[in-house]
Amino acid sequence: MPEVERHSFDVLVIGAGGAGLRAAIEAREHGMRTAVLCKSLFGKAHTVMAEGGIAAAMGNVNSDDSWQVHFRDTMRGGKFLNNWRMAELHAKEAPDRVWELETYGALFDRTKDGRISQRNFGGHEYPRLAHVGDRTGLELIRSLQQKVVSLQQDDFAETGDYESRLKVFQEFTVTDLVLDDGRVAGAFGYWRESGRFVLFEAPAVVLATGGIGKSFKVTSNSWEYTGDGHALALRAGASLINMEFVQFHPTGMVWPPSVKGILVTESVRGDGGVLRNSDGKRFMFDYIPEVFKDKYADNEAEADRWYADPAGNRRPPELLPRDEVARAINSEVKAGRGSEHGGVFLDVSTRLPAEEIMRRLPSMHHQFKELADVDITAQPMEVGPTCHYVMGGVQVEPDTGESSVPGLFAAGEVSGGMHGSNRLGGNSLSDLLVFGRRAGAGASDYVAGLSARPVCSDAAVAEAERVAVAPFSGSAEGGENPYTLHMELQQAMNDLVGIIRKADEMDQAIKRLGELKRRAATLVVEGHRQFNPGWHLALDLRNMLVVSECVARAALLRTESRGGHTRDDFPGMDAEWRRKLLVCKLSDSSVEAVEVVEEAQIPIRPDLLALFEHSELQKYLAADELEG
Ligand code: FAD
Repeated sequence: MPEVERHSFDVLVIGAGGAGLRAAIEAREHGMRTAVLCKSLFGKAHTVMAEGGIAAAMGNVNSDDSWQVHFRDTMRGGKFLNNWRMAELHAKEAPDRVWELETYGALFDRTKDGRISQRNFGGHEYPRLAHVGDRTGLELIRSLQQKVVSLQQDDFAETGDYESRLKVFQEFTVTDLVLDDGRVAGAFGYWRESGRFVLFEAPAVVLATGGIGKSFKVTSNSWEYTGDGHALALRAGASLINMEFVQFHPTGMVWPPSVKGILVTESVRGDGGVLRNSDGKRFMFDYIPEVFKDKYADNEAEADRWYADPAGNRRPPELLPRDEVARAINSEVKAGRGSEHGGVFLDVSTRLPAEEIMRRLPSMHHQFKELADVDITAQPMEVGPTCHYVMGGVQVEPDTGESSVPGLFAAGEVSGGMHGSNRLGGNSLSDLLVFGRRAGAGASDYVAGLSARPVCSDAAVAEAERVAVAPFSGSAEGGENPYTLHMELQQAMNDLVGIIRKADEMDQAIKRLGELKRRAATLVVEGHRQFNPGWHLALDLRNMLVVSECVARAALLRTESRGGHTRDDFPGMDAEWRRKLLVCKLSDSSVEAVEVVEEAQIPIRPDLLALFEHSELQKYLAADELEG
C-alpha cells in the first residue's frame, strides 16, 4: 500500500473561490465535517479578481427591477440556451445571497439614501450590480473568509478545536478523484511545497475549481485556471455541456505585451466609457444585431440621454452583451481601423470628471498607470478581446448541483448550463453564491442519506500515485518539455478555436491536440517533487489537453453562431440548434478519448416562457416550440 498522508471528512470542497467557500459554509452549517482544498493561497482565487460587481435584482436604483426581468436578461444574454431552471433559481435567490453577504460582514457601496448601490452592466436592463468600487470580488472573498473564521470560532467554543468541523488546506492540488464502484470515495493530490501525496477520504466532493482560460494564449485568467475540475469530472464519468461556448471579454489590455489579456472591467462602459476606432468613430452603432434593435440606441444623442433618462431612451450599444461587443472590436481591427497595438480605444476621460473616475474606477486607474503608463482620467485605453470565462462545465442537477456520478457535485464556473451560450457580466458572482450554497446543501443531504461510506481502495490510490509521478520517469533524451507543450497548446487554441471559428481550422486544432496529447505521454520533468513548477505544469497539462479537446470537438459540431461560439462558415443562429446540447464524455478513459454527443435541451417551462413577448420568442424558438 502506498505511503500517503490520509484525512477523512464528510464533504470535500475542491476550490476556495466564491463557489467553494459558500458550499463549504453550507455543508458545515448542515453539520458535515467539511474540508476546503485549494491550489493557491487561501484568499487568492479568481473570485478575488472580480471587479465590476454581483448581479441581483434588488431594485435599489430602479424599482422596476425584479427576478423576472433578471431572468429574461439572463436568458437573452445566453441566447436561450441556458438551463432555464438554473436561470430561474439564480434570478430569484441572488438578492438574498447579497443580503446574506452583508450579514457575514461585507459592506457594499451605498446609494444616497443608504441602500446597496447598483450599477449598469452589459445586457442588464436596469442597474443591477451591487459593488464595492471596482474591487467587488475582494470584498466577497473577504466576507466569506470572515464567515469561515466565525464558524471556526463557534466550533472552538464547543469542541476546543477550531478546525473540528471546517478545515482549509491551502497550496494543495488535487490530481484525481477516487471512486468506489462508481461512487465518489475521495480525492488524491499533492502539497505544492513538499510534493508529498495526500488522500482525502470523503463520500461527497464539491468541485468548485473555476475555469479553463490558461489553455488560451491571451486571457484574463491566472495560472490556476487549467480546467482541473472539468477534467476530474470527466475522468470520474461525469459529462460536460456547453463546452463550445467560451467567453471572450471585449476589453482586455493589449499593450504592453507583458500584460496583454489583463481585464479592463465592463464597469468602464457601464459608467459611461465609449468605444472608438482609429478614425475616432463610435463604431458600436454599426453592430447592433436584429434581436436587440428595439433595446439599443442607434444614435449618439439617444445613447447619451439614456444615462440621465433610462426610461425614456434606449441603451448605448457599448452595453450590448459581451459576445456582441467582442465580435465588433474584432471586426474593426480586422478592417484596419484598430489602434497602433491591435485594439480599439475605450475612453472614459471625456465622459466623466477625473475625480469621479478615481472614485468609481480606482483599480483601473492604478492598473493602467502602473502597467501601461496611461492616465485614464486624461487618455483613452487601448483594449481588445481576451479569453475570460467558460460557459461550459459539469452537467448538474440545477437544484442540488449533483452530477451524474453519485457523490460528485459542482458549482461556480466549473459547472455548466446556467449561462447558456454567453454569460452576462455580474452573473458569475451571484451564480457562485446561489449554486455554491445549493451544492453544499445537496452534498450534505447526499451524505446524510448514505447507509455505508464508500472506501478508497489501495489499488485506486496506487494508480493515482503512478499517474502523478509519471512525468519523472521519462528519459530526458527526446522527452517533451511541459513549457513548450503549454505554449503550443495556447497558440493552437488562440489561433484555431478562438473568437471566430471555421471548420477547417477546428479540424486542424483537433489534429494538433491529438499530436500534443501523444507528445504529452513523453513529458519529462527534472529534479524532485519539492516545489517543482515544471512538474505542476506537466500535471495541469493533462487537464488542459482533455478540456481543450472538448472545446474544439463541440465547436466543430455546432454549425451555427450563438453567444460565445462564432462560426465564420455558419454566421447565423439556428433555432434547431437551440434545442440541442452537446455533451462531452470520455469514451475510453485509458487514453482519454473525448466523444461529443447531442442531447435534447429541456423545454422551457410554460410560465417562464410566458414572461417573454411572443415576437421576441420568434427570434429564438423553432415554430413547433412556439405552438406548444
Ligand atoms: P475561483 O474563484 O477561481 O476559485 C477556484 C478555486 O479552485 C481556487 O481556490 C483554486 O486554487 C482552486 N483549484 C483549482 N484547481 C484545483 C485543484 N486541482 N486542486 C485544488 N484546488 C484547485 N464575475 C462577475 O460576476 N462579476 C465581475 O465583476 C467579474 N469580474 C472578473 C474579473 C476578472 C479579472 C476575472 C478573471 C473574472 C471576473 N469575473 C466576474 C468572473 C468571476 O470572477 C469568476 O467566474 C468566478 O470568480 C469563479 O469563481 P469560482 O468560485 O467558480 O472559482
